[in-house]
Amino acid sequence: MDQLGGVGSVDRYAVIGHPVAHSQSPIIHAAFAKQTQQNIRYERVLAPLDGFVETVRDLMQQGYQGVNVTVPFKFSAFQFSDHLTARAKAAGAVNTLSFSANGVTGDNTDGVGLVHDIQKNLGVSLKQKRVLLLGAGGAASGVLLPLLLEQPSHLTLANRSLEKAQALQQQVLQQLPTAHLACCDFSGLQGMVFDIVINATSAGLGHSVLPLPSTIFAPQSLAYDMMYGKETSFMQQARASGARVADGLGMLVEQAAEAFFLWRGVRPETAPVIHLLRTS
Ligand code: NDP
Repeated sequence: MDQLGGVGSVDRYAVIGHPVAHSQSPIIHAAFAKQTQQNIRYERVLAPLDGFVETVRDLMQQGYQGVNVTVPFKFSAFQFSDHLTARAKAAGAVNTLSFSANGVTGDNTDGVGLVHDIQKNLGVSLKQKRVLLLGAGGAASGVLLPLLLEQPSHLTLANRSLEKAQALQQQVLQQLPTAHLACCDFSGLQGMVFDIVINATSAGLGHSVLPLPSTIFAPQSLAYDMMYGKETSFMQQARASGARVADGLGMLVEQAAEAFFLWRGVRPETAPVIHLLRTS
């Protein structure tokens, strides 16, 4: 464990993952705490792959007040929660746990993080837009309901494995039966055009090129890759097609801000923290 934060009577939080050493969350939460004058300590905790529940119970016994959960424990956190928010239920995954006398509440702040980054930071409204979400893994599940709640004209979910997209579509339609939500595999995108294209696949990690028709990007469209820290082939494809391109660093900071708000009841300013991460 490493430690960042204040001294004296502190409230304690952590991010749990495996691996976790790469996580920027302690830097982000330390910046939020300094900015809002909250006396907290936020650590990285490496849990054994088969030891998520034991690790969380241990932290609870030590008096921690909440944790963020990252790969590969978001589903374990979902199962561990006594109470789930609607957005956690729709996601089938939890990235924020809050501990109280009433038990453990599981939430998912990834979606609101993405929505805030697109609408507030990038200044692009989702309302009445044609939106394409690529991927049907943990990240896509977390953002689908919050995106739909912003009332795009329609949202298409495209994934390499069609069955996974269909399963996610059904899961979300249970929460929001009136949603305009279609799904397809990548070949089904021929002839379609979108105002906002969001890449929630992990293809960029392995330098794979997604088989996207270059015609999917409308003039003045936004191409948003949830990955950050590198130029992905998706970003290159989108740039070559004339789209405006954004990475997922703002989403990372915004999902952390939502978790901070859930725990502390204070909403930190995100712009200076995004700037800090981009320049450090
Ligand atoms: P998962 O492993 O849960 O899902 C991976 C998804 O990518 C699946 O839909 C999979 O398709 C698809 N995929 C993987 N490789 C390829 C490929 N070569 N071609 C086409 N599709 C592919 O990963 P996550 O959902 O957890 O993460 C996805 C990305 O989102 C990662 O890059 C992660 O870093 C990022 N992320 C960013 C966050 C942020 O705050 N900015 C927050 C969370 C995630 P299939 O189902 O067919 O296998």
